[in-house]
Amino acid sequence: MRITALAGGVGGARFLRGLKAHLDVVAPESELTIIANTGDDISLFGLRVCPDIDTLLYTLGGGINEEQGWGRADESTRVQGELAAYGAVPQWFTLGDLDLGTHIVRSQWLAQGQTASEVTSRLAARWGLPDRGIHLVPMTDTPVETHVVLDSDEGQRAVHFQEWWVRLRAEVPASRFVVAGLDRATAAPGVLEALRSADVIVLPPSNPVVSIGIILGVPGVRDALRGSQAPVVGVSPLISGRPVRGHADACLSAIGVECTAAGVASLYADFLDGWLVDPADAGVRVRGVETAVHPEALLMTDVDAASRMAESLLALAERVRR
Ligand code: GDP
Ligand code: CA
Repeated sequence: MRITALAGGVGGARFLRGLKAHLDVVAPESELTIIANTGDDISLFGLRVCPDIDTLLYTLGGGINEEQGWGRADESTRVQGELAAYGAVPQWFTLGDLDLGTHIVRSQWLAQGQTASEVTSRLAARWGLPDRGIHLVPMTDTPVETHVVLDSDEGQRAVHFQEWWVRLRAEVPASRFVVAGLDRATAAPGVLEALRSADVIVLPPSNPVVSIGIILGVPGVRDALRGSQAPVVGVSPLISGRPVRGHADACLSAIGVECTAAGVASLYADFLDGWLVDPADAGVRVRGVETAVHPEALLMTDVDAASRMAESLLALAERVRR
């Protein structure tokens, strides 16, 4: 079976780790292609940081800090302490010492002229992903950055997505999101092919606006989903109208979409076939989309719970297969 997924960071990575665990039992020969959001990418201290790709690498590769959901296990921040002692800014973005190894080697390879997808594939090899049938690809090789437009007394100003998310904790209302560079971007090699050749296309519970929404903006991606022969199925990132973690509510309110499982599905309604929801959202109906209710809370409390969510999602895909 060939499965292609669109993913952001923590929610996407945890779900895909569960999906992989499930596939290892029921269909060990399966190939999983993950198209990762790169709109969160940022340059810090001369280094290129790709938070969603790194979270996917560490989670699927077994190096993640479990409690946090991002960053490396057994991490220290001695380098950042030195940067602070020199007064180097910004200090609001945590860069662990082990994590810095990833950013340094990525920046070196990019500076040598390798593309983002070539670099990602070398990073993924170190974490053993290709050997396990997991292909991690950035949505585009073109550098893009999500910016958030904020209203203030002095008028509008735009900040990098990370500054809004991490430093401002999404507490300052966003009026819109602008993805710098996306209009000139093309899908990375393999992205559109992975969508066209998939048996099932999966939307994990990733942020619908600033993760999945950004990938959908890459030229050709949305059309590939609309024209897909394979079923497109997704997991709701919201339970009873609330995000499980993160600030999806602030993102949805910025684009004027109701913060509910139905509101998120409506963003995908032009291509979505099946939508997996929590028992609390059993009443959700979205035109043209088959809803399935997971038999337990839609929470990725551990790998087994995520794996059972993946099992429900694949059963739904089987039902809606066109
Ligand atoms: P990010 O890059 O860290 O924002 O990670 P994602 O883009 O993958 O999105 C996080 C989204 O996943 C949020 O909207 C969360 O509500 C959702 N999420 C995280 N954990 C869970 C979970 O256990 N269950 C469900 N249903 N959604 C989750
Ligand atoms: Ca992210």
